[in-house]
Amino acid sequence: MITQTVFDSPVFQMACEQYDHIADWLGIGQSERERARLPKRTLVVQVPVRMDDGRVENFQGYRVQHHLTIGPTKGGIRYHPDVTIGEVAALAMWMSWKCALVGLPFGGAKGGVTCDPRKMSIGEIERLTRRFTQELIPIIGPQVDIPAPDLGTNEQTMAWIMDSYSTQVGHSVPGIVTGKPVCIGGSLGRREATGRGVAYLVNRAMDTLKIPAEGASVVIQGFGNVGFHTAFALSRHRTRIVAVSDYRGGIYCKEGLHLDKLAVHIQKTESVVGFEGAEPVSNEELLTLPCDVLIPAAVERQVTADNVGKLRCRILAEAANGPTTVEADHVLRKSDIFLLPDILCNSGGVIVSYFEWVQDLQNFFWTEAEVNDRLYRILEQTFSHVMQFAKREKLYHRDAAMAIGVKKVADAKKVRGLFP
Ligand code: NAD
Repeated sequence: MITQTVFDSPVFQMACEQYDHIADWLGIGQSERERARLPKRTLVVQVPVRMDDGRVENFQGYRVQHHLTIGPTKGGIRYHPDVTIGEVAALAMWMSWKCALVGLPFGGAKGGVTCDPRKMSIGEIERLTRRFTQELIPIIGPQVDIPAPDLGTNEQTMAWIMDSYSTQVGHSVPGIVTGKPVCIGGSLGRREATGRGVAYLVNRAMDTLKIPAEGASVVIQGFGNVGFHTAFALSRHRTRIVAVSDYRGGIYCKEGLHLDKLAVHIQKTESVVGFEGAEPVSNEELLTLPCDVLIPAAVERQVTADNVGKLRCRILAEAANGPTTVEADHVLRKSDIFLLPDILCNSGGVIVSYFEWVQDLQNFFWTEAEVNDRLYRILEQTFSHVMQFAKREKLYHRDAAMAIGVKKVADAKKVRGLFP
């Protein structure tokens, strides 16, 4: 049993408890567990940045690589004021189970800088990114660890990382990051991939429950890359997106929000708040609105012991990583809410990141139709596997998905040995 580590935090604790629950079920020995809970490698760096007003501000940055047993590590980089080393370690661990679940040759990683990009200029964010990349160079590489976008980062951030890394090594290395712009080796369909994947799986869940997609009501917390593309992909099936939110608050319209007009409003105001014809709703209220599908697509620990009893959805699709606390999970597993667990639900992002990496290494690029077709094939296979496994073993969906992922990593470790 681990007593104290530098990673100690509520999110890390949550990831460890989820792992232990599954390790018990799989019969993984105590001696193997400590290594599985703790990341192989962690880098903590200082990132001093010259701000626009001439001051130098110091930021703290992290990169955590969970395991290197199956191949390089893979995972996003997050810019957010609440980033901590424990959160990054938890997210890296979840990436490991996710990559293994969907069958990708990666271990999990994650990175982050504790900063508030909303309060920084574009020039300040660029300088922060380039300096952070410089510090990461000893431990990243297209065969070692490949970053991607996450909360608060985007294609432009990835372009700066790719450029800074390439300048250092003396030639262009597109395979150093995924989620970069298409014009420098990004993949068609990567920007939309996580949302498209969420929408595909929500549709499969609706089929399973015999809920007609047309007219089904959907609530989405968080309207960034994932929330936005999930909404657009679902609206193609004529679902009603009745409420969405961002960090400033939410909006509700029973008949369904007009997404094209909402996109224009966001472009003008940088928020969903104040959208004409919709009622304001708080992020807390939004989670308990009656709907067919609830999609947390923002940050961790939103569905808690306090609000889980008030959820009025039939499907909970975890587009965010770790949106449900362990305490809330105890209640959910006994309820009749159909859960799409995070490591399955948002896996479309890393699947297409894998395609992007493969295309970069081969210098051979695919059409968007090929990307989507391969994405849906992997999602279909994984969804069916998780559903069949859950049914056969009488497991809660999260446990089934975790058991498949954790077992694949444990098996690989067993045959390789102690090092990776
Ligand atoms: P993003 O930065 O593009 O968007 C995040 C959205 O959440 C924004 O609308 C922001 O305003 C909102 N938000 C932030 N804090 C909030 C809060 N406390 N309450 C309500 N809304 C809040 O980030 P993203 O890439 O869309 O990532 C969202 C989630 O999806 C994260 O948990 C991330 O780890 C996960 N995820 C992202 C990807 C990807 O490809 N980008 C892949 C897998 C998982």
